[in-house]
Amino acid sequence: MSRAVEFCRFLASLKREKRLYEVIFFATSVCNARCRTCFYWKELNRPGDLSLDEMETLTRTMPSFHHLILSGGEPTLRRDLPEIVRLFSVNNNIRFLNFPTNGLKPIIVRDFTNQMLAENPQLTISLNFSIDGLAETHDRIRGVPGNFHRAEQAIEMVQPLRRKWGKRLWVGINTTICRENYHEVIPLANYFLERKVLDGHYFQIIRGDPLDPELKRLPGSDLGQLYDHIVRIQETYAARAFHDDDPRARWLKRAIYVGTLNFHHRVQFANYTRGAPWPMPCTAGQTSIVIDYNGDVRACELRGALGNLRDYDLDFRAFWQSVIRAREVERIEQDRCFCTHVCFIHDSMRFSLRAQLLEIPRSYARRHAWQKSRPAWPLAGRQRPLRSDRASVSAPASSISPSE
Ligand code: SF4
Ligand code: SF4
Repeated sequence: MSRAVEFCRFLASLKREKRLYEVIFFATSVCNARCRTCFYWKELNRPGDLSLDEMETLTRTMPSFHHLILSGGEPTLRRDLPEIVRLFSVNNNIRFLNFPTNGLKPIIVRDFTNQMLAENPQLTISLNFSIDGLAETHDRIRGVPGNFHRAEQAIEMVQPLRRKWGKRLWVGINTTICRENYHEVIPLANYFLERKVLDGHYFQIIRGDPLDPELKRLPGSDLGQLYDHIVRIQETYAARAFHDDDPRARWLKRAIYVGTLNFHHRVQFANYTRGAPWPMPCTAGQTSIVIDYNGDVRACELRGALGNLRDYDLDFRAFWQSVIRAREVERIEQDRCFCTHVCFIHDSMRFSLRAQLLEIPRSYARRHAWQKSRPAWPLAGRQRPLRSDRASVSAPASSISPSE
C-alpha cells in the first residue's frame, strides 16, 4: 500500500461519528477522605447509590461505548465494584476503564484491579492515584493523616500487577494543582519519576467550587514555568512507555502522547488565565455523559442535572432519545461555555479534526515554549458562568493513558 493511501486512511480514521464514547459514572457517594480540593463535597456520604440490580437494567439499555471513567466518592468503597465493571464490560463492551482512587485501601485497590483485569479480557485499566503533594502537604490537603503513606503502599502493592498484566494496566498519579501545593508539584513528580513505579503523572488546575475556596487562589508565580517542567516529566514517561515499540512508530507515539497532554495544559492555561475558549466545540451530552451515584444524569460535571434515570425506570435509551437531552446539546452549542475539565477537553478533542491535525501537532512543536507564556495574575480561575444553578463538581481528575 502506498504511503499516500495509508495517509488518506489515517485521515479518514480521525473523523469519528458523534455517538456515545465516554461515560463518567459516580460509583458511590461514600468517601473516606475530606479533601479540601473536592468539588463534590456537598454530595458526599449521602444515601441513594444505585443498586447492582438497577445497574443491570441501566447497562442493558445503554449502547456499546469505549471508555468508562469511575468517580465518586471513593470507588473502592463500593464492595461490588468488580461486578459493576463486569456489567459495563458484558453489556456495553467497554474497552478502557479509568479507575481513580485515593489509595486509602491498598489491598482492595490491588485485588479489585487484578479481578477486573482477569474477568474482562478486552479491558485496559488506567489506575490513577490522587496524590497532591509530598507526605505532609498531601495529608493536609486531603484531610487524612497518613494518606500519603497509604497511597504509596498501594502503589507498591500494584507493582506485581504491572509486571503481570503488561500494557493492559497503566498506573499513574493525578495531581490537582492548588495554592498549597504548586511549589511542591515538581519535587513530587521527581520523587515518583525516580522510583519508576508509574506509567504516567497527570496535572490539573483546581476547579469548580472546592471545600476550601482559598485553595483556588494560586499565587502570582509563573504557571507557565510549572508547565515547562511538567512537559519534561511527561516526555520521560513517554520515552519509558514506548521504549520497546517499533522504532518507526516510537517517535510518533511519543509525539502524540506529549502533544496531547501539552494540548490539555495549553487549553486549561488559556482558559484559566485569559478566559479563552477551547479551539473546538464541546461534545458533552453527545459523546459523553455523567451519571451520578443516585441516577442523576448530566451532560457534564459542570452543568445541572437533566433528570434522574430512576424516573426513566433506568432505561437509558429513553433518556438518550429524550427532548431534554437534545435541548441540552443545543444549549451547550448556544452557550459556548468552556472550562478546564480535562475529561471533556480530551473527549471533545477526539471528535475535532482541527484539534487532531493542527492543535496537537502544534502543542508538541511548542512544548518547550512555556517560558514565553505570561498569565494574567492573580490567578483565581476564570470560567464562563453557566446557566446551570448546580455547583460544579469533580471527584478525582482524569488522565489519558499511553494506550489510548
Ligand atoms: S476528591 Fe475524591 S477522595 Fe477527596 S473527598 Fe472528594 S470524592 Fe473523596
Ligand atoms: S462546562 Fe465545560 S464540559 Fe461542560 S458543556 Fe461547557 S465546555 Fe463542556
